[in-house]
Amino acid sequence: CFVTIEGIDGAGKTSHVQAIAERWRARGLEVVRTREPGGTPLAEALRELVLHQPMDALTEALLVFAARRNHLQEVIEPALARGAVVLCDRFTDATFAYQGGGRGFDTAVLAQLETWVQGSRQPDLTLWFDLGPELAAERRAAARAPDRFEREQVAFFHAVRLAYADRLAQAPQRVQRIDAGGTPEQVAARWLAVLESRGW
Ligand code: C5P
Ligand code: MG
Repeated sequence: CFVTIEGIDGAGKTSHVQAIAERWRARGLEVVRTREPGGTPLAEALRELVLHQPMDALTEALLVFAARRNHLQEVIEPALARGAVVLCDRFTDATFAYQGGGRGFDTAVLAQLETWVQGSRQPDLTLWFDLGPELAAERRAAARAPDRFEREQVAFFHAVRLAYADRLAQAPQRVQRIDAGGTPEQVAARWLAVLESRGW
């Protein structure tokens, strides 16, 4: 199955990806842990450009979808075809959230690009790690050097967060909100409850 992890920068999603992967590996499943933008040499090169070069929202959207196309063809689709679990840190919801919500780019165009790039492929489950932008900014300040997006103001992340909420409203079965507030142990208990409720 195909599981994606989402949330604004500083919500803490990446620290949980490893634990989720371990849970499935312990059950003997092949887990392919990957990320977007990235996951292949070409897509990682595009990631570097997107994260560090100034560009307009359409260029940004085209580059992240180009990276996604290559990632789907080389990593995600082959892994799903052989029965692996694919665990991906960000996917198309991030494009709707960052380029759509954050940059204000036309979501109807994003939806067209989505169809061109991925056909009917959608995650089976998306865990959205949700944290208020102010708290997320505090966590980011305590962490590593920020990329181009992480230097954005709180208002930008409010818009990104609203777009994630909209994605949940459009696909409530697929997208599960995880309250990302509190300690890592508390957050882990929340995603564990979601996985257990699905027998995963
Ligand atoms: O997940 P991670 O924080 O490492 O992602 C790197 C950055 O790429 C994030 O800061 C996010 O803002 C940005 N990004 C984006 N559009 C996407 C995916 C990621 O702007 N579609
Ligand atoms: Mg980040």
